[in-house]
Amino acid sequence: MSKVRTGSRWRPQLPAATALAAFAAVLLLVSPAAAIVPQAAAPVTAPADLGRLADERASVVEVILADTAELDALVATGVDLDHHVTHTGDGIVVHAVVTGNEVATLTRAGFTFGTVLHTPQDAAQRVAEREATIAAHLAENQEYAAAADFSARSTVSDVRIIRADYYTSGDTQVLSVEAKWASGQADSSPLTVERDSGPGTGIGSGGTQTISRFVDAGVYLYHRGAAQVTSRPAYVRITSPSGDVAVAKVNEWLPVPPKDPEGPGYMKDFVASYLTPTELYDRIKALSAQYPKISEIVELPHRTNGYRRKAQAVLGTVDASRVAVDSLAWGHQGGNDISVELADPGVADAPLAVTVTGTAVRVDLATDGSGTVTSTAEQVVAALNAQAGTLLTAYTYRGSPGTGVVAPAARTALSDGLAAPASVSRDPHPVYAIRIGKHRDGSRLGVLAYAQEHAREWVPPLVTIETAERLLRNYAHDRKTRELVDNLDIWIAPSINPDGGHYSFYDFNSQRKNMTNHCAPQAPADFLGRNSWGVDNNRNYTEYSLFDGYAGASTNCTSGTYAGPGELSEPENRNVDWLAARPNIRFSMNLHSSGNYFMWSPGSYAVPGRVSAPRPTLAEESLFWGASSRILTAIKRHRNLAVTPARTGPIADVLYSAAGNSGDMLWYKYGIYAWNFEVGTSFQPDWQEAHAETMEFANGLTEMLRVARDFDTDRKRPRSSLSVRASATPGMVDVTFSTSEPAAVFYTLDRSRPTYAATLYGSAGIREGGETLTIPVGTTVHWFSVDAAGNVERNYKPDGRGNNHNKQKVKAPKR
Ligand SMILES: [Zn+2]
Repeated sequence: MSKVRTGSRWRPQLPAATALAAFAAVLLLVSPAAAIVPQAAAPVTAPADLGRLADERASVVEVILADTAELDALVATGVDLDHHVTHTGDGIVVHAVVTGNEVATLTRAGFTFGTVLHTPQDAAQRVAEREATIAAHLAENQEYAAAADFSARSTVSDVRIIRADYYTSGDTQVLSVEAKWASGQADSSPLTVERDSGPGTGIGSGGTQTISRFVDAGVYLYHRGAAQVTSRPAYVRITSPSGDVAVAKVNEWLPVPPKDPEGPGYMKDFVASYLTPTELYDRIKALSAQYPKISEIVELPHRTNGYRRKAQAVLGTVDASRVAVDSLAWGHQGGNDISVELADPGVADAPLAVTVTGTAVRVDLATDGSGTVTSTAEQVVAALNAQAGTLLTAYTYRGSPGTGVVAPAARTALSDGLAAPASVSRDPHPVYAIRIGKHRDGSRLGVLAYAQEHAREWVPPLVTIETAERLLRNYAHDRKTRELVDNLDIWIAPSINPDGGHYSFYDFNSQRKNMTNHCAPQAPADFLGRNSWGVDNNRNYTEYSLFDGYAGASTNCTSGTYAGPGELSEPENRNVDWLAARPNIRFSMNLHSSGNYFMWSPGSYAVPGRVSAPRPTLAEESLFWGASSRILTAIKRHRNLAVTPARTGPIADVLYSAAGNSGDMLWYKYGIYAWNFEVGTSFQPDWQEAHAETMEFANGLTEMLRVARDFDTDRKRPRSSLSVRASATPGMVDVTFSTSEPAAVFYTLDRSRPTYAATLYGSAGIREGGETLTIPVGTTVHWFSVDAAGNVERNYKPDGRGNNHNKQKVKAPKR
């Protein structure tokens, strides 16, 4: 690979990587439930997003209960509850499986609903994905079994250890083992893992643990399991039920370095509370004013649509007779002053009439000969539009023909429903970044960090602020900070979606999207649907998007993952595109929460078939993995929180498809090494937890800057060596490669000159440890290694003519 930015969207994948990538693809759907990380209590959620509910089809919705008495009362109603019951500081949250009509009934009975967690549409999509996944896994299993080089890359054993990872998390020591057994599809037996108790100790002396089959939709993927241990094992052994044996060395996942890399006097801990977008921008402006020589504020080119809405009301309770009204003016520009009354004239044979007095609209409903009101919703809508059309627009409820007779209603004020103080601007909002660096002219390697694409994620912006302050406030006295600021061009955008962010703080704390309403009137665009509007800014980008046929985004304007009317339709997204297009930017971090994930591309796949966006070449992925271990180790330094192996890797492997996400745009469109943090354990944890998460992920973001700096200065060529051990098979030897730094090894066994098209050794592989090659005694291995910055061992030119690569004829080792 070259340090020259790739102009094309994607380089062809190395043929040799295909089999390995296919095997890695088998290792999908690693359940986060198995991971051991400190858990914060789930927050009690705000009023529900109930507009998304279908009337007659069940969705999963949180019910917020004060105490066990209320829980018992809920159970007594016979409502369908799943097994989720969380006791929070303030009460109990349960998950109910209910229809929209049931929610209405239970709400009248006094129950409070929280977030809508799962709708029928979600379920249909899961089913489609499930079927595609089953087919893909079956095909991958067949491919794995039939792979021509299977016997060469495996030992003769029918069981193979994929990973054996030791790590500590908090005070707990854990050994996580994954293995694949040839009979795993048909035979449900667990496998027993024997551990030693450290270097030089006997296998079995550290005890045993059982790993069980990971079967997804009836398809065997592999065996896996994690157990607490009391010492760090050096080796593990699995004996399969048929008597075959596999042995693997235990890798340490995120070993903690002996001391912090920062020098004495290094200052940190600069955040003391959550910050609204207005406060985030004020903070970076104040910082830049204090450090004008090494920073500046940049207003991004596109203003948002604004924290503003039309004033609205929905009159009536029965759908066919409801009347919805919207002001023409924005709420804060007069819309909120409008009111509508639906009056019963109290006389017989009255005509339908509308009177406008200033901003007060009165509808006198028509009556029949007995004085009974006869005006239908459709008739009232037409009359309002004809007589009050300079103030408002009226429509029937969510596509209803409006044939129901309307009920008289007292004077109702229209409202934009926005509660933020006047200090929060209602105008289209500027979006700001702080640019930090001694040389801010594009001549230095650029790094981008951006947060709050998703409004309700309140910790990630703090991580960016903390990181910016560490850079600026340590610059004068900390040599290592100075090296970063003097040599990098660092762009930090703490809030990409300020409108949604403000809405999340002041109105609806579960807000995920921006505030732009793309819903047609029946979609719903009425007052009751307002918490469901908006575009998911992390689904509105250009690569492998919904519009390209990829999964994990929605065309429904009220979906949590609504992709918008088209790629880059939203100003928030055009701002990120503008930042990423800066030609010197090579590294980026997209900060989200929650889950303690660390991820990179591909972030999406197409269904059916689960065809992912192209995987990075393994040479490129070696940088992702190598840098990941540094960044995650830095995170762990704060309070020993381990981002687990199961939560590290390509988004499509460890989470789910997210078509049109920003990380994919930065990687595929601009060639930026684009990572994604999922910070912490919930969107809005209590402050003690939020503070700890901010500190640890600011460590990680700062380490990413060091990775970028090292990448920029890395001229050191990797070295590699081959080790040879006796094989269980007569006439064969087991060989492994090791490298002096994260690097990819390419090799041949047929005496040919190795190129980038040669076989790629699995040590840099996607989810595997170093593989063991079992090859005939006397084979000559030809190979070279290349590090993530593109430095090739011995300055060998894989695409040239020289022969200065490594060669070794393997002999039978002495017994
Ligand atoms: Zn997010």
